[in-house]
Amino acid sequence: MKPMHEYMDETEQAVLHTYNRFPVVLEKGDGVYLTDTDGKEYLDFGAGIAVFALGYHYQDYDEALKEQIDKLIHTSNLYYNVPLADAAQKLVKASGMSKVFFTNSGTEAIEGAIKAARKYAWNKDHRTDHEIIAMNHSFHGRSVGALSVTGNPHYQEAFKPLMGGVKFADFNDLESVRACVTDRTCAIILETVQGEGGIYPADPDFLKGVKAICEENDILLILDEIQCGMGRTGSMFAWQDYGVEPDIMTCAKALGCGVPVGAFVLNEKTAAASLVPGDHGTTYGGNPFACAAVSKVFDLFEKNRIVEHVREITPYFEEKLDALVEKYEFLTKRRGKGLMQGLVVKDRPVGEIVKKALENGLIVLSAGSDVIRLVPPLVIGEEEIDEMIQKLEASF
Ligand SMILES: *Cc1c(COP(=O)(O)O)cnc(C)c1O
Repeated sequence: MKPMHEYMDETEQAVLHTYNRFPVVLEKGDGVYLTDTDGKEYLDFGAGIAVFALGYHYQDYDEALKEQIDKLIHTSNLYYNVPLADAAQKLVKASGMSKVFFTNSGTEAIEGAIKAARKYAWNKDHRTDHEIIAMNHSFHGRSVGALSVTGNPHYQEAFKPLMGGVKFADFNDLESVRACVTDRTCAIILETVQGEGGIYPADPDFLKGVKAICEENDILLILDEIQCGMGRTGSMFAWQDYGVEPDIMTCAKALGCGVPVGAFVLNEKTAAASLVPGDHGTTYGGNPFACAAVSKVFDLFEKNRIVEHVREITPYFEEKLDALVEKYEFLTKRRGKGLMQGLVVKDRPVGEIVKKALENGLIVLSAGSDVIRLVPPLVIGEEEIDEMIQKLEASF
C-alpha cells in the first residue's frame, strides 16, 4: 500500500476537480465501519450518502452479485432478462405502484419522471408549454433537467439557460404552491423529506394539501424518494407514512445498496397515459447486474425486517440526539425522520465539525449551510449510536 497522499495526488492529477475531498483514501468496509489505506477505522454515519443501507458486506448480498457476474453482467433492453423481472416486481409490490423504469442514477430517474409528466400532459392537450412546480432548497440532481427543478440558484447560475417552465414555491407553504398553479401546470415535484437542503420533513398537512391540488387539477405529484426512500424514515417509502400516494416516485441511492441504479415508478393512471416505445430509453438501465442487486436488497429488507428495525431503533437515536441539543448551546434543533436526522448548528462552521469527526474516526455529512446530517446504514444498533455520540462530542 502506498502512503495516502500519493493516492490523493494521483487522483487530483487525473480526476476533474469538482469535489474538495476529505484527505482520506477509503479502502474497505465491514458492517458499519470503513478502513482507510493506513488501516484507520471510521464509524460510518454517512453510508456513502444514504446509499449503503445494509452496511458493508451484508450477508449474502455480495454472493448474489458474484453469482450474477458469473452468469451475465449486461444485456440490452432489446431483450428480457431474469433479474429485471424480479427487481421490477419487488419494487412494484413494495410501493403498491404500477410500472417501473430502471435508470443508472438518481438524476436520471428525475429526468424520466419529468418526461413522463410532460408526456402525460401533452397527451391531454398537445400543448408544448407545460410547467412544473418545484420547491426552494430542493435537490434533485445535476443533469440539466434535474438541475432545473433544483431550488438552489448557486448550483444553477453558471449553467443557464436551463429547462424552461419551472416555477419555485416554498416547501411546507401550501399557499405558495397554490399561487404557482396555472392551466399549464403538469407536475409538482418535491422530496418527501428534503435532504441536501437541510433535512426538512414535509408537514403532513402540506403534503396532503399538495396532493389535493394535484387531484383537483389533474396535475401529477412527483415524490423524490431518492434519499428518504428505501426504509430510511421508518417506512419503505417516506410517503407511505403520510398516506399520500405519488403519481410518480423516484428512487436511487439505497435502491441498489452500492450498485449504481435508480428508478422512476409510475402509478397506473400515469403509466397508462405517458411514455410508450420510442419515448425513453437507456443502454445500461435495468441491466442484469444492477437488477440482481435491487432484487437482493428487497429480499434482505424483508427477511431481516430492516424497516421494522429502523422504526425500533429510531426513538433511541432521537433521544441521544435530543440530549446533545439539550447539552450544547450551539446545537439549536434536531430535525428529521427515522434514520435521516439533522442537527442544526449556529455560530460554528459545520464543515469544521465534520472534519474533526473524521479525524476522530467518525463519518458524518453536512446538509444545507448549517446542518450536521446523520444517515447511517439502516442496520446500526444502540452500541454504534453510543459510539457515534461519543465521537461526535469529542469533535465539538
Ligand atoms: C442524491 C439525490 C439525487 C441525485 O441522485 P444522483 O444519483 O446523485 O444523481 C436526487 N434527489 C435527491 C433527493 C437526492 O438526495
